[in-house]
Amino acid sequence: QQRGQPRNRKSSMTQRLLNYVNGQWTESKATECLPIINPGTAEHFADVPLSSAQEVDTAAKAAAVAFREWRRVPAPDRIQYLFKLKQLLEENLDFLARTCTEECGKTFNESKGELRRAIENVEVACGIPMLMQGRNNEDIARGIDEHMFRQPLGVTAMIAPFNFPGMIPFWFLPYALATGNCMIVKPSEKCPVTQQRVFELIDHLGLPPGVLQLVNGARDTVEAILDHPVVRAVSMVGSTPAARAIYARSAANGKRAQCQGGAKNPVLIMPDADMETATRILADSAYGCAGQRCLALSVGITVGEAKEPFRKRFSEATQARKVGYGLEEGVETGAVISAESKARIEKLIGVAEAEGASVSVDGRGQKVPGYEQGSYMFPTLLDHVPPQGEIAKTEIFGPVFSLMHVDTLEEGIAMVNDRAFGNMACIFTASGAAARQFRTETHAGNIGVNIGVAAPMAFFPFSGWADSFFGDLHGQAEHAVEFFTETKIVVERWPKEWSRKF
Ligand code: NAD
Repeated sequence: QQRGQPRNRKSSMTQRLLNYVNGQWTESKATECLPIINPGTAEHFADVPLSSAQEVDTAAKAAAVAFREWRRVPAPDRIQYLFKLKQLLEENLDFLARTCTEECGKTFNESKGELRRAIENVEVACGIPMLMQGRNNEDIARGIDEHMFRQPLGVTAMIAPFNFPGMIPFWFLPYALATGNCMIVKPSEKCPVTQQRVFELIDHLGLPPGVLQLVNGARDTVEAILDHPVVRAVSMVGSTPAARAIYARSAANGKRAQCQGGAKNPVLIMPDADMETATRILADSAYGCAGQRCLALSVGITVGEAKEPFRKRFSEATQARKVGYGLEEGVETGAVISAESKARIEKLIGVAEAEGASVSVDGRGQKVPGYEQGSYMFPTLLDHVPPQGEIAKTEIFGPVFSLMHVDTLEEGIAMVNDRAFGNMACIFTASGAAARQFRTETHAGNIGVNIGVAAPMAFFPFSGWADSFFGDLHGQAEHAVEFFTETKIVVERWPKEWSRKF
């Protein structure tokens, strides 16, 4: 049996992916489809339909009907579905991880890791009976009490990116469900298969039809969701231009929105850092998931005497990284999402060269034996990258690490803060004082101190800032609970003399 292969599992997936609407697997009427190609092998294994506005309308109306009853189901009963979902996700974890690797190229262990975080969010949302409690005060004035309740919004939607096809919908979905909302998930058109598999499990939960739905598609499908009058709230994760556009259109249509955007994450390497640990951790942050994490570190700023020892070690680590098909043992860096993405990354390395950077480890033009058709980009180290150039500011989204240098911690912090994104910033140091100054003064929502991927656990919000986030309340934890509920204030007076005497 192969890694992650299911045992005796019946699949709803044909060549063409299905939508899941009103509790039924539904063939989209779309005439246009996009091919889903395994980036590690170049095998074409599914097609995703680009669902129409009418199909979005059907799903939105089914959700609106379902909401009337669903919101009245007591929270302790709603979370029973999540306990069951956790169980099903655990039982099918290897199979889902395999699907995730097949459609997006990351390694099997990386896929398992993202699914663990998905499950963790289900677990946290099981605490909803406490998490969505309101608050109250007796006697705000003589004989008058005031209460704040949290009520669900209604129909919500989640628009997902390609790079964590198993995990990212789960930064939102369990909280939407548990707080009493209905949700339409629109997976990435580049990686829609894992969510198809997840919804095969959701189909077994026995949820009322219309509470959770899956509608496949791309930009037009999203715009139909954003323009639909019944949809109250939109959660989106993706590139900054898309996040900005979706946030603006949602707001123009009077919807609540939270849109997590792109990134270009820097790390300061101080001279007192343990260079071996820093190199090992940073190589995994920069080159793991083929550099396609929104929390990948892609800019290394060495401070003072850190320059030479770090550069030498990191160059060796870059060359030593094992690139290959994500389902094979021992592979550390899998494929990037597509041949177009590989070509774009290679082109950007050329831009860096033209700007004056040196390519000290060049990952262009290489192939993985046995997988020659795959979209493999080998780790690449750029040195002397000009801080004001295009490459220092562009999200490359591939296994490319840019080195820069400053003389002091203060200069380093200024360089970290001189950019549009604010998803994550990290420091490697043995000094508590340096770490403290960094964490206090740095403009980023997720900070790592001797950590390479400061990804918040499910019980903390995922706190991107600046151009990495449009909105107020982030995904996960109490932010998600607040996002998916609106507060209702009740001020009440019950004079004794009005009561019937018994
Ligand atoms: P993308 O922006 O191309 O697509 C994301 C989703 O938005 C897809 O479902 C797509 O169909 C839809 N979409 C794209 N453009 C649209 C438009 N103009 N109007 C309406 N809908 C549109 O992103 P991607 O390439 O799938 O994902 C990679 C990006 O996501 C990277 O920039 C990465 O940094 C970012 N990302 C951010 C986070 C975070 O938490 N901040 C997490 C993961 C990924």
